[in-house]
Amino acid sequence: MMPVWYNCPFVPAELISACGLSSRRFDADAGDFCAAQTEGICFAVEAFLTGMKKQTPPYAVIFTTLCDQMRRAFDLYQANGGKNGFLLNVPVTTGPDAISLFAEELRQMKQFLCRLSGHAARFNTIHTDAPISQGSKPHKNNRAKIALTGGPVYACQLAALEHSLGSRGTIVLNATENAVEQFRRALNPEAMKTDPYVELAAAYLQTIPSIRTRPGHLFYQWLETQLQTTAVDGIILIRHPFCDHWRGVEHQLRQRPLPPVLAIEWNGSPQAAALSRLEAFLEMLGQ
Ligand code: SF4
Repeated sequence: MMPVWYNCPFVPAELISACGLSSRRFDADAGDFCAAQTEGICFAVEAFLTGMKKQTPPYAVIFTTLCDQMRRAFDLYQANGGKNGFLLNVPVTTGPDAISLFAEELRQMKQFLCRLSGHAARFNTIHTDAPISQGSKPHKNNRAKIALTGGPVYACQLAALEHSLGSRGTIVLNATENAVEQFRRALNPEAMKTDPYVELAAAYLQTIPSIRTRPGHLFYQWLETQLQTTAVDGIILIRHPFCDHWRGVEHQLRQRPLPPVLAIEWNGSPQAAALSRLEAFLEMLGQ
């Protein structure tokens, strides 16, 4: 089964599977980070492109318009001879027109995928009974409870961060860019029978708490709601160099009545400066 790679929370993995292909959410490894140091390019985007170069054909890649850098990644992929790339246009608003537009984009994505697989889409294989996964983790006593947000954080980085928190802190809420799809609502079975594209478009566009969605206050409202049900002592915002989006969020977070915020740059492996600021932040939280 041909793998289809993606790195954006707005790509419905269910649609890839329904077309008879294997959905693969990209998770960079340390080798991808080493190459991801080009001036002016977000490391998450570059790590994705680096990771794709290491794949063995045949495979396909879905890019999105999540941000200008992601959009540009599609051009770079094609310019470097990448095959089977598809650019999914993700609207920034969530009203009826935006849902219709995104549903049409998903139809085109389905056609692209079915051409690759040679199969018709089978929507009855999509599970509709639950959201993708649970939102928050149970926390360990006596540790500072941390909510994580910001740009993509890959599994090995998350492990490094948890290691750095040690016995003094624990991540109870992961709302980083590549983890937010876990918060989309469950699919409605009846709506899926009526028009699966519209239902997928609505579920992804209207309930994934992305900073790119307009109006922008929806992300902060969502975060405040989460913090009412998940006790949090501090927020760590992961910023990637050359990303203006999350830099703007840092200012917004500090303006709101939220737990203390630590913004750190975590470009691949943890930097010494980030680690010492993390230490100071934990001390400030009483750890
Ligand atoms: S971290 Fe910023 S530049 Fe990088 S993919 Fe996310 S939004 Fe785009």
